[in-house]
Amino acid sequence: MDYQGAHLIRPPSEADSIILQVTVGCSHNHCTFCGTYKEERFRLKEEAVIAADLEFAARYCRRQNRIFLADGDVLILPQARLVALLTAIRGKLPWVRRVNLYANAKAVHSKTPAQLAELKELGLDRVYLGVESGHNPTLATIRKGSDAAGLLTAGRAVREAGLFLSVTVLLGIAGREDSLAHAEATGRLLAAIAPNQIGILTLILLPNTPLFADAQAGRFTMPDQRGLLEELRLMLAPLTASRCQLQSNHPSNYLTLDGRLPRDHAAMLALIDQALAGQINLRSETHRAL
Ligand code: SF4
Repeated sequence: MDYQGAHLIRPPSEADSIILQVTVGCSHNHCTFCGTYKEERFRLKEEAVIAADLEFAARYCRRQNRIFLADGDVLILPQARLVALLTAIRGKLPWVRRVNLYANAKAVHSKTPAQLAELKELGLDRVYLGVESGHNPTLATIRKGSDAAGLLTAGRAVREAGLFLSVTVLLGIAGREDSLAHAEATGRLLAAIAPNQIGILTLILLPNTPLFADAQAGRFTMPDQRGLLEELRLMLAPLTASRCQLQSNHPSNYLTLDGRLPRDHAAMLALIDQALAGQINLRSETHRAL
């Protein structure tokens, strides 16, 4: 398979998927905490290269029934290009049951409800939407490219098209000052979006990012471990009626949660309380990673 660029990332749940790189980089590429594609100019790969990868997958990936379309932002491609791509996947890899990708709010808003439904019909299954925060001042500061209202309408559009919606949020992204406001607003936004899956990550400052430079200059301070646990608790508190999977099992987190809401809501809060009381071993700093 042809993989271009310095980093090729995928969600943890796509570990067993065929990774087909369709674009390189991210069309937005302005988020101040994200260093993944900072050195890349966003581009669509040549059709012949993608076609050759599909031929390779048709020959050697017959046991993998999911495919993840990399890099950061395949959904931003024109509808005709996506229709051709999904049709080619169905034709070449008929055993593939699910086609999944990352998206941002702008990419979702670039599609009409009918277009999203058409993509669903052609095999698109799961959309991973980076929400990060529901707190508008934080979303503006980190240059997410969308406010909370935009993230809400994007998330709902994905759900209304019948697609599986997985969202990620980031503990620590608002810094110490706006920590609690970020957690409360993010909990409210998650409850309103009602995604199928919530993935919680904890900010790790990467040296090639503007946020790292802010931290070095004293303009940004991460909450401490206790502050991050309090954020987690506040985010979870309003999710009493949510029906979704919730995971904080990414290695960036100090505390692992993995369960279903609303079933495990009380147990998750109790676990956070135990962590706050110092009764649980948290992931050590040396074992945290992106
Ligand atoms: S939209 Fe996603 S991939 Fe693009 S810069 Fe922001 S966090 Fe990184």
